[in-house]
Amino acid sequence: VVELGMPTRTVLTTCAYCGVGCSFKAELRGDELVRMVPYKNGGANEGHSCVKGRFAFGYASHPDRVMEPMVRDTIADEWRTVSWEEAITFTARRLREIQAEHGQGSIGAITSSRTTNEEVYAVQKMVRAVFGNNNVDTCARVCHSPTGYGLKQTFGESAGTQDFRSVDESDVILVIGSNPTDAHPVFGSRMKQRIRQGAKLIVIDPRRIDLVRSPHVQAAHHLELRPGTNVAIINALAHVIVTEGLVDRDFVTSRCEDFETWEAFIAQPEHSPEAVAEICGVPAEEIRAAARLYATGGNAAIYYGLGVTEHSQGSTMVMGMANLAMATGNIGRAGVGVNPMRGQNNVQGSCDMGSFPHELPGYRHVSDDDVRSIYEHLWGTPILNEPGLRIPNMFDAAIDGSFKALFVQGEDIAQSDPNTQHVFAALGALDLLVVQDLFVNETAKFAHVLLPGTSFLEKDGTFTNAERRINRVRPIMAPRTGKQEWEIICEIAQAMGYPMHYDSAAQIMDEIALTTPTFMGVSFAKLDELGSIQWPCNVEHPDGTPIMHSDEFTRGKGRFMETMYVPTSERSTRKFPLILTTGRILSQYNVGAQTRRTANVAWHAEDVLEIHPHDAEVRGVTDGDLVALSSRVGRTELRAKISDRMPVGVCYTTFHHPVSGANVVTTDNSDWATNCPEYKVTAVQVDLIPAS
Ligand code: SF4
Repeated sequence: VVELGMPTRTVLTTCAYCGVGCSFKAELRGDELVRMVPYKNGGANEGHSCVKGRFAFGYASHPDRVMEPMVRDTIADEWRTVSWEEAITFTARRLREIQAEHGQGSIGAITSSRTTNEEVYAVQKMVRAVFGNNNVDTCARVCHSPTGYGLKQTFGESAGTQDFRSVDESDVILVIGSNPTDAHPVFGSRMKQRIRQGAKLIVIDPRRIDLVRSPHVQAAHHLELRPGTNVAIINALAHVIVTEGLVDRDFVTSRCEDFETWEAFIAQPEHSPEAVAEICGVPAEEIRAAARLYATGGNAAIYYGLGVTEHSQGSTMVMGMANLAMATGNIGRAGVGVNPMRGQNNVQGSCDMGSFPHELPGYRHVSDDDVRSIYEHLWGTPILNEPGLRIPNMFDAAIDGSFKALFVQGEDIAQSDPNTQHVFAALGALDLLVVQDLFVNETAKFAHVLLPGTSFLEKDGTFTNAERRINRVRPIMAPRTGKQEWEIICEIAQAMGYPMHYDSAAQIMDEIALTTPTFMGVSFAKLDELGSIQWPCNVEHPDGTPIMHSDEFTRGKGRFMETMYVPTSERSTRKFPLILTTGRILSQYNVGAQTRRTANVAWHAEDVLEIHPHDAEVRGVTDGDLVALSSRVGRTELRAKISDRMPVGVCYTTFHHPVSGANVVTTDNSDWATNCPEYKVTAVQVDLIPAS
């Protein structure tokens, strides 16, 4: 028993983990953090929390923390601990040397969705104003980039439509490719509560997630589709709505465009439930019943996750869900909408901040002269009007020899990105890799410069959660490493000859507000006053916007898009007869860099391969056996867990631990519009490794 005693100080801050963005009171005794208490007035959590936010903060003081900058000339050398000044001078000199030798476009940066808005903004500014190119991308490339594309095409804004409270007014909840009780526990509980109150639940997922298995809630329909067939089933749902006269004609007439073209497309027999039942593996009557419930059951809301986006047709599927919501008038009021469940705490923010090679902050294209001129005037330097390299383009260009230096902010791309051998080859080919992180992660093994990062307990800034809610992250202590991450970026920029300076993170937010229409009314002072703000926050909406597209869509009319189903090229074969899909578990988070360094690791000490009893039996595999998991790009080894949560022919794993390296087997297949990797469909074989 630990005697906690009374706190001597409390600091209101935001969880460092998932996209729910729970508010906590950090209670301290002296300088020691003794506990995290969920904040009852927190806009996203209203006093609730999960095991990660509540207990898993010990990583911030873990002995593995990198506390001083380190450099080395080649990755074969030993690290040398150096001063901040030497590390920054070394980094700036090498970046300039590489540009002089290989051209302005030979360097770039990757930002993280685990860092603050202000830190991400600083990196994209460094790339555009100092590197002189648009080679900046965010780790959202490999998770929710199709959300940005699909919702912008249809609604005109790359963000979820609702606040979390909205679910309390839903009558039908459609969950697609999301496992909210594991990945977004506080919102998952809220959803369950609403279902217990009577809302009907429809789940579209190849896996029997907890919402389907829970004794406390009952799904009206579970469409247990084959991985990779999302678009076929969403089109079939829309087909039923159109052909059975369930369209909200008033809504589509007054609020939308291109409906007639889409209606003719979706009414074709090839989209009927009977036609796609064989493709999806879901009985036609189940599809019809789910479509009728969604269209006629009252307020119907869609919540989706990476099971939608991480496909070769991720963007198409996002547009398919938007079509469904518009066709039934389920947009623009409480209880309805289309809502991406963002994985990491600041996925929404890292995208908002212009950390894309084609978009400046606020999702404005770099080819827009008027937008560019705002930044050119303020920053005093021209900005390139052509998109830069996406993350996979950076990897390919590094292997080709035209991309030479990369700055990676708080992201472990060697563990999180697909086809590990390809990523290793790219990182190993760089002349300079700079990693800013808390730990010597898998990526840092290829680095020449390691710049210590700050934990959320030291950061001063903001995170933006899945409902566009900007929350303050307040430091409970000064950076243990001596510098805020945005200060390091400014110092590198200055050492490269560009005058970049801010007195505080608040001043960075002031610049964001000055230049970004959706953030126009945001400031730290206002966040302190209101607690949090959901963007857009501007003259029309001075206190923010909980529900979007109420009177009109951001783009004016909502646009219907044709969403032709195109099967993925990744098919099961004789050599690789099973389909692997990947996901997350409650106690762990992303690559596990944080949660593996807390007591949570005791609940999930290794990644395991869930395999159906039938598939296990024919391979002679029993629970706990070591198996080889192989695909056309790689091979790894994991312990088997026999489970009937997936249908026959489908297996499942997580990627929280580097040793098992699930991404050793995932492939380069990606979304046609955004290059988001197809993590959810990999043809694999599983072989028993006999005990020696
Ligand atoms: Fe943190 Fe998400 Fe858990 Fe909330 S639900 S405490 S944001 S991990």
